[in-house]
Amino acid sequence: MSMPLVAVDLGGTQIRAGLVQGGQLLHRAARPTASERGVDAVIESIAEVVRQMWAAAGQSGLPVGVASPGPLDPRTGIVFEAPNLAGWYNVPLGERLSQVLQAPVVIGNDANCAALGEHQFGAGRGVRNLCYVTLSTGIGGGVIIEDELFEGTAGAAAEVGHMTLDLHGPRCNCGNIGCWEALASGTAIAAQARAAIAGGRPTRISQLAAGAPVAAAHVTAAAHQGDPLARELLDRAGTVTGFGLVNLAHLFDPDLIILGGGVTHAGDLLLEPARAIFATHAMPNYRRTCRIVLAALGDDVGLYGAAALAARRLA
Ligand SMILES: [Zn+2]
Repeated sequence: MSMPLVAVDLGGTQIRAGLVQGGQLLHRAARPTASERGVDAVIESIAEVVRQMWAAAGQSGLPVGVASPGPLDPRTGIVFEAPNLAGWYNVPLGERLSQVLQAPVVIGNDANCAALGEHQFGAGRGVRNLCYVTLSTGIGGGVIIEDELFEGTAGAAAEVGHMTLDLHGPRCNCGNIGCWEALASGTAIAAQARAAIAGGRPTRISQLAAGAPVAAAHVTAAAHQGDPLARELLDRAGTVTGFGLVNLAHLFDPDLIILGGGVTHAGDLLLEPARAIFATHAMPNYRRTCRIVLAALGDDVGLYGAAALAARRLA
């Protein structure tokens, strides 16, 4: 019987925690992140949900794994920057949390943790080489090589969303141009929808947004209702994504590429164009060996991933 661990998923809106043992999520807790309260308050909230899990386990001091927004250094536990957490620059999260809790703490980039989670508990079980891509507000990823997470020199490998897929594309938040993320993330799809609406394209997307700022979820909903503009936007995002997947297959020769994140709720409207590009543009041997599937763990992927990380590093 493996040792119980506490997994934490630090998100922009919620801090979620789970007690994980033997691949089972036994207990869970959540509280609002409310990062406007400041870094110290967020760290104290994380400590509180961890203590709740210790109480549920009847055992204090159990190791803690945290899936955190990044970029970050998993070796030092420093979060360099977290765009969704107000004021988070160079926060020594691992060290601070370890001091507050007096327990071992390991942190990992959320997309890398998701790759570990899917590899150990989800769609990638039993697969030695895989790439995980999250298509969400941004686009992130993780690469598993021979059952190990590939981290790179500074622990920041697999920023797959920042590979340039269009030399003449828009400027990305990262400073580069034409990044996958700048073309096909939820943020990019929403921006393209807003630009088309401002340009006078008829669409039901704005109706579905009902006065709120247009988001990718409204585009997906409109596309499912047959809206031509929404379908065109998802088709373009799927096409771009297909080229991203071709690049990943050519680089890593994985058995599997797993796609997760909210943008994949578009289903076949996004996946069909992506698979079509893969089927025509990947070199023939990769087409035969590399499967493209959807993630299996849904919203719990961060918790399972943080548990997998803690198990590897601390247990
Ligand atoms: Zn970029």
